[in-house]
Amino acid sequence: METIDLLPTHGDRWQSTLHWQPSSLHQQRFQQLYGAILAANQQVNLTRITTPEDFWEKHLWDSLQGVAPLLSDPEAREPGLKVVDVGTGGGFPGLPVALVFPHWTIALMDATRKKIAALEIICDSLGIANVSFLPQRAEQVAHQPVHREAYDLALLRAVGSVNACAEYALPLLKLGGQAVLYRGQWSTEEEAGLAAILPRLGGKLQSVRSQTTPLTQGVRHNVILTKVERTPDKFPRLPGIPSKTPLI
Ligand code: SAH
Repeated sequence: METIDLLPTHGDRWQSTLHWQPSSLHQQRFQQLYGAILAANQQVNLTRITTPEDFWEKHLWDSLQGVAPLLSDPEAREPGLKVVDVGTGGGFPGLPVALVFPHWTIALMDATRKKIAALEIICDSLGIANVSFLPQRAEQVAHQPVHREAYDLALLRAVGSVNACAEYALPLLKLGGQAVLYRGQWSTEEEAGLAAILPRLGGKLQSVRSQTTPLTQGVRHNVILTKVERTPDKFPRLPGIPSKTPLI
């Protein structure tokens, strides 16, 4: 049996960047998640980020920095939010968020069925119960009545262009719900292009927060959208169209 390396703790880094620290239970759960993802990664390509330091920074820290304002807000814990992670891949940002917010329910969505099947096995073996699994494309899920305008929070990391992400996310949100688009670099051109299409989707640009990753000083931006009006039924467009022909 292979031994899994220990993840770093970096309590000071959590504290100085996100004003929050994982408990020892969180640390244990993160370590279990790391082990389970590495094991599953032998069969299904879930992630290329596998060293302990990289996993800590690029998966755990990065997943949680997107919800940083909620980490230290006791009201965010109860009652539970309904969250969807669109294009979760190996479970990011959804799984670290599920571990830290056990009262929330997180729907893990991905177009690749094999990835979702692997995540089901991982969650089952670790006893992560506040998750559900959607092995489908956002363009399909968002037209199903149980999912349309059903979520308080949508998370999307590395899923495509920002305008495609907006088209995936806004139909899934309740009025007043928010989407966090996890981006790297962010430009005024991108921001203008996004602002131009949001009214058609019933969204508005709430804020853009920037962060620097604590170990390698990478650039991160979180683009926060709020749903302010109902999204017209024609969105999202047919599968593949939002990414091939983004709204302009
Ligand atoms: N969010 C993860 C994975 C990013 S890779 C992370 O940051 O580590 C992008 C993932 O999005 C892939 O697994 C791909 O299958 C999925 N994806 C891309 N377009 C999608 C769509 N329209 N609906 C659902 N999943 C999608």
